[in-house]
Amino acid sequence: MINATQHAIWILEQSGRAGSAYHLPMRIALRGPLDVHRFLAACRSVVARHRLLGCAIVEHRDGLALVPAMVPPPVTHLDLSNRPNQADRAVRHEILRGFDLRTGPLIRFTLITLGPSDHLLLVVAHHIVFDGHSKDVLVCDLAAAYNGDELSALSEPDLANSPVTAAAAEFWQARVRESYDMALPALTWPDVVGLGEELALELGGDLAAAADAAGTTRFELLLGLLHVLAFRYGNAEVAVAVDLSTRTSESENHIGLYVNEVPVVSQPAPELTFQEFAQHLRAELREIYRFRDIPPARAVGGLKPQLALCPISLSYRKRGASPRFAGLEAEVDWATFNHAARNPLHVQVVDGPDRLEAVLRFNPGVIGSDDAKRLVGHLRSLLRACRANPQTRLNALPLLSDEERDLLLARWNPPTEPYPELTVPSLIEEQVRRTPDAVAVVAGDVRLTYAELNARAEHLAGGLRRGTVIGLRLPRTADVVVAMLGALKAGAAYLPLEPGLPRERAEFILADSGAAAVLTSSLALDSQPPNLADRRAQGLRPGDPAYLLYTSGSTGRPKGVVVGHRQLAGFLMAMRDRLGCSSSDVWLGLTSLSFDISMVELLLPLICGARVVIVPDEVRTNGPALAKLVQDNGVTHIQATPSGWRVLLDGGFSDPSVVAICGGEALAPALADELLQCTGTLFNAYGPTETTIWSTVAEMRPGRVTIGRPLPGTRVYVLDEGGGLVPVGVPGELCIAGIGVADRYHERPALTAERFTPDPNGPPGSRLYRTGDRVRWTPDGELEFLGRTDCQVKIRGHRVELGEIESRLLDHAAVRHAAVDLRSDVLVAYCVTAQPVDDTDLRMHLSALLPEPMVPGVYVLLDELPLTPNGKIDRRGLPDPPTTRDLGPVEYTGVAAVVFAIWCDLLGLDDIRPDESLFTLGGHSLTIMQIASRLRDALGVDIPIDVFFDDPTINGMVQAVSHTQAAG
Ligand code: AMP
Ligand code: MG
Repeated sequence: MINATQHAIWILEQSGRAGSAYHLPMRIALRGPLDVHRFLAACRSVVARHRLLGCAIVEHRDGLALVPAMVPPPVTHLDLSNRPNQADRAVRHEILRGFDLRTGPLIRFTLITLGPSDHLLLVVAHHIVFDGHSKDVLVCDLAAAYNGDELSALSEPDLANSPVTAAAAEFWQARVRESYDMALPALTWPDVVGLGEELALELGGDLAAAADAAGTTRFELLLGLLHVLAFRYGNAEVAVAVDLSTRTSESENHIGLYVNEVPVVSQPAPELTFQEFAQHLRAELREIYRFRDIPPARAVGGLKPQLALCPISLSYRKRGASPRFAGLEAEVDWATFNHAARNPLHVQVVDGPDRLEAVLRFNPGVIGSDDAKRLVGHLRSLLRACRANPQTRLNALPLLSDEERDLLLARWNPPTEPYPELTVPSLIEEQVRRTPDAVAVVAGDVRLTYAELNARAEHLAGGLRRGTVIGLRLPRTADVVVAMLGALKAGAAYLPLEPGLPRERAEFILADSGAAAVLTSSLALDSQPPNLADRRAQGLRPGDPAYLLYTSGSTGRPKGVVVGHRQLAGFLMAMRDRLGCSSSDVWLGLTSLSFDISMVELLLPLICGARVVIVPDEVRTNGPALAKLVQDNGVTHIQATPSGWRVLLDGGFSDPSVVAICGGEALAPALADELLQCTGTLFNAYGPTETTIWSTVAEMRPGRVTIGRPLPGTRVYVLDEGGGLVPVGVPGELCIAGIGVADRYHERPALTAERFTPDPNGPPGSRLYRTGDRVRWTPDGELEFLGRTDCQVKIRGHRVELGEIESRLLDHAAVRHAAVDLRSDVLVAYCVTAQPVDDTDLRMHLSALLPEPMVPGVYVLLDELPLTPNGKIDRRGLPDPPTTRDLGPVEYTGVAAVVFAIWCDLLGLDDIRPDESLFTLGGHSLTIMQIASRLRDALGVDIPIDVFFDDPTINGMVQAVSHTQAAG
C-alpha cells in the first residue's frame, strides 16, 4: 500500500493539473574517459538496490499499491555529439516528459554524449518515490557502483503512515486552512501547475552572517525573511509551506518519499525586532517538528489535495560532499529546475559544504518577471538589513531598492509644470471676453450666452457676502449654473442640498455649515447689485473656500469637506488638459449637484468656452428621453456613475463619437466592455471629495479596468500602515497629495488631522489625504482599485458609511445593538432589539433621518451580534439574510439509490441526507478510492476525483455520474 502523502500526489497526477511539479531532475556533468558500459551497469545496480524505483502504481479495489513492474532498461543513450544547443533542448524535453505511474518507470536516466570525454547524465525521478535527499543517496550509490563496489541489498523501506494522534490532529487543525488568503504581487493563483522560471537569489555570505547575528540556523533565517516579506506585503497572517524530512536513522540510506510539506504560520507583530520574530518562528518550528511525521491533510479531514499548501513555499536542504567517480571529474547540479510552478513563489535552497544554491521560482503567468526581480531585490534588502542589525523592528526594515523608490516617486508621479494661481471665475471671465455671444448653457428652451450667464451671475454675486456659506436647493434649470457661478464669484462657499433630503438631515447640514441663506427657487434677478464695487475691491483669492460638500460620517453625523478656489481651478485645468477639451465640446449636465462631479459637467465646459446642456429633473432617469436629448443637442461629453450609465445604455444610447467618463464607484469589467462598444473614448475617473472631484483618470482598453494615473498636479502614493511606500503590485492605502487636497473638514479639527497629514515625499509643507481605498500599482504604473480598508460603501454612486446607518438605527427606542452590511448590493440591517419590531417600523424610522440610498432594504433581527476577539462587531460573521429553502424528506431512486447504498455500506451508516458531506460523516481520502471503484463496478462510470472535494455529497455524486454519462 502507498501512504497518505503518496496518495495525495497520485490524486493530483490523475487530475491532470500537476504538470511537471513532481518531476525531480538532477544533472551530472562527467568529464574524462567515461566507461559507458560500466556506467550503465551502475545505473542498473542502483535501481536494483532501491526497489521502489523499479515499481509502478497499481489500483486495487481497496486503494492503491506500489508493485514491482516491468521497467524498461534504465538508460536511454542519446548520441548528440558536439551539438550542445540540442542537448539543452533534449534535457528540457526529458524533464518535462510525463510519467505514467501505472506502468512505470518512476525514474529515467538519460546519458548525453557531448564529446569524447564530455558527458551529461540527466536523472529524472518521480516524487512519489523520491525526494531531495534521495538525490544524495542516488549519486553516492551510483558513484560507488561505478567505482566497482558491490551494492548491498537494503532492508524493505517502511512507508507506513504514522497513526494520527489526537494531539497531532489538534495541532494541525489550528494551523491548516483550505487556502491561505495572502496578498502577493501576484494577480491570481491558478489551479494548474504552470511553466515556471527561476532567478538566482545570490544570498552569498549574508545568509550565514545574518543567521549568526540573529542566533538562528540559516533555514530559520530564510524562513523568517519570507515571513517578513509577506508581512510587509500587507499580510497580517503569513503561511509559508516548508518541506520537512521524516527520515530516521533507518531510512537514511533509502531512496523514497520522506518529506512532508507543512505550513508554518505566523502573525508578525510590527513592533517586534527581527531577532525576536525569528526566535518566535524558531520556537514554532520546534513545535512543528513534534508532528512532522503526520501530513497535515491527513490530520485534518476533508482537505482537498492541493498542488501547493501555501502561496509561498521554501525548500531548504543540506547535502553532503559530492562523490567521486573514478577517473572522472563530476559536477552535480543539485537544484536542477523541473520548470514547474506549483504556487506563485517558491524558494529552493541546497546548502552544501562547497557552495549554497538558492533560487526563486515563480510562475511568469502569475507574477511578471519584473515583479519577481523586484521581489528578489526586496529579499536582499531585508537580508542585508537583518545582517546589519537584527534588532530592527519588522515595520522598519527597508524593502525598496533606490530604483524602485524612484519609479514610485518620480517616474509614476512625473513632475508637471505648475498651473498659474487662478480662480474659476477668472477662467470663465476670460471666455466671456473671448466669445461673449457663444452659447454657454442650454436648459430646455433657455439658452444663455457667455455674456448673459456672466451678467446674471455677477448680479447674483452682488447680493452675496464673501466668506459666507450659501445653500443651493434648486430645480435643474439654467439657474443652477448661474447660482453656482454667482456664489463662486462672490467668494461665498456654495453648499449643495439635495431636494429630497429628509428635513432632519437638511437642518443638521444647514446648522453645521452655518449657511447664511439658501437659494431655493428661481433667482431674483431684477434688482441692482448692491455692493458690486465693494466685492471687486476685496478681490477673490485662490485660498478662499469655493464649496462645502457633506458626505456620510462613520461616527454617525455627516461631515462637510471645505474645498478652495485653488483646488477647484487647479483640478479643472488639469482635467481640461488630460481630456484635451476644446470650445466645440458639448457636455451633458446630468449629475445631481450633491455629487461634486456635477462641477465637471457645469464648470469644465465654461472654462473652455464650450457648452453645457442641463438635463431637466424629469429626464434624468428616463433612458430613452436622455438618449434623445444627447442626440438632439449634439452632446460630445458625458459623465455618469455606473448606475447612470446603465440608465443611458438601457435607454438605447449608443454613439461612437461621445467621450464617456465613468466614475464615482468601481467600474465593473462587464460594464466597461459594454461602454467601450457603445461610446468612443472611455475614461474611468477616480477621486474622493476630499481631493477635489477626481484625482486619477484611466483611459479604458478592453479587458482591463484600472483607475489610471494621477492628473497633472496630483501625486499618488500607495502606503502601508506605517506610512511607508509599498512595492509595486502590493496592496496598500492610496494617499493623494498635490493641488487637489482640500483644506479641511468643516469644524472637525481632529478628523482633519487624522485624514490630512504631512506629505513626507512632497515639497516642504505639502499635505496628503489618506483615502481609505485599497489599491496597488500595476507593473506599468497604473493604479488598480481593490476595495476599502474601512466600512465605507458606495450605493449608486452615493458614499455611505455603514457606521452612520448603525448610529441612526440605535436612535430607535427598541434597538439595542445594530450592524449594517452590504450583501449582493443590498444594505442589510441586523438588529438586536428589546422587543419585537417589524421591518416597516425600522425602515420608516430611518427614512425620516437618512437619504434614500442609505436606508437598508432588508432587516434581520438577531439575539446577539457576532463579535471579533477584540469586541468589535464581526461583520463577516453576520449571517446572510434568510432565503427560503426546501428541506422535505427524500426518497432515493435510480442512480441516487445506488450511491446511497454504497455510501451507507462504506461509512457504516443507514441514513444519509443528500446534502451531507462525506467528510462530516467520517469519510477520508481512501474512502474516496473505494467509492470511486464501487461506482465503476456498479454503473460503469469513472467520476472525476475532484467531485469528491468540490461537492462531496450524494447529490454531488449523482450529478457527477450524469455529467460523466452525458460526456461519455
Ligand atoms: P466620493 O467622495 O463620494 O467621491 O467617494 C469617493 C470614493 O468613491 C473613493 O474613495 C472610492 O472608494 C470610490 N470611488 C470613486 N471613484 C471610483 C472609481 N472610479 N473606481 C473605484 N472606486 C471609486
Ligand atoms: Mg468623487
